[in-house]
Amino acid sequence: MKKSDHHIETDCVHAGHGPDAATAAVSPPIYLSTTFERGPDGSYPKGFSYARVANPNRAQLESCLAVLEGGREALAFSSGVAAAMAVFQALKPGDQVLCTEDAYHGIRRLLREVLQPWRLQVRFVDSTDPAAVRKAITPTTRLLWVETPSNPLLRITDLAAMAEIAQHAQVLTVCDNTFATPVLQRPFDFGMDLVMHSATKYLGGHSDVMGGVIVARESNAFTERLRLLQSEAGAVPSPFDCWLILRGAATLHLRIRAQSHNAARIAEFLARHKAVEQVFYPGLAIHPGHALAARQMRGFGAVLSFTLRGGQAAAMRCVAGVKLFTRATSLGGVESLIEHRASMEGPDTSTPDNLVRASVGVEHADDLIADLDQAMASQ
Ligand SMILES: *Cc1c(COP(=O)(O)O)cnc(C)c1O
Repeated sequence: MKKSDHHIETDCVHAGHGPDAATAAVSPPIYLSTTFERGPDGSYPKGFSYARVANPNRAQLESCLAVLEGGREALAFSSGVAAAMAVFQALKPGDQVLCTEDAYHGIRRLLREVLQPWRLQVRFVDSTDPAAVRKAITPTTRLLWVETPSNPLLRITDLAAMAEIAQHAQVLTVCDNTFATPVLQRPFDFGMDLVMHSATKYLGGHSDVMGGVIVARESNAFTERLRLLQSEAGAVPSPFDCWLILRGAATLHLRIRAQSHNAARIAEFLARHKAVEQVFYPGLAIHPGHALAARQMRGFGAVLSFTLRGGQAAAMRCVAGVKLFTRATSLGGVESLIEHRASMEGPDTSTPDNLVRASVGVEHADDLIADLDQAMASQ
């Protein structure tokens, strides 16, 4: 893939899109066929053979995402964790993975409960502290998995520092870029090797499709292995899912900017509210990762969390009292969601029990603020 000459706003609309070669349809057709005709000589004239191996809608989505991240190639999967699973399965028994300690709980659970029993070594580190990461690297360390901003505390990891430490030790680096999206953060600019997305979140953007993506800065033996795992392990997205994610990507830049603007307004409101103990949002000057986020990102994103002075009961009351926010997990859709995070993550969580996480949507910030204000009115 050649580097794009366009701004990301243009690439969101055009990369991987474009009139259908066969019919000139402006919106791409959905190719449901599972199989493709071979030529008399046994070849595959259009490059497609069987839909698990490749499908036109998936190819369009993959080329769009490779351009948005500035990578060489992208691989689409049926969910974010399926994408992560392919990366971990490309390693060998005995290899060690270092992972951001407050990464998405589903990734941590996948490593601990599925991959550790398959003899992957797993260690969780505070990736906001480069010295701690450098110290944790051993001769068996093969992969460094970083999530920034992290979940749910929005901690910021220095991607350039991670890439530098890893390169010295010949460790592969992955950034889970789900929260930031390529509009706000481009991990390849800082030397990361792979980018992972839960396309279920901002890329899809409407809470109606699951998907995952790995984008690679370079094509090499590791990406060949990922391609093999994609087709032979088979966790592939359906043509319609690919179509929905590609459609979502067209408006990604508009949504993430509007949502980030709203999140910043809400964070400022919460920071002044007497019932609130602490607000976790990298756009606030008091956030410990603020200066780094300002350098590394082009905006601070639209997820924030906050703790309440009144403890778990107060957090539950706040979530129970909202009328406009929807009480649900997940993030990245156009509608604002709110949740009591610890009870979602389960008994092994380290998330404070008075923490509320919000995914801010594209509604008017004043309406969202009024909703939170009335939900906390009794506190
Ligand atoms: C949701 C999420 C995932 C997992 O993706 P699924 O699409 O739910 O499988 C991974 N990382 C982050 C940061 C997420 O928010």
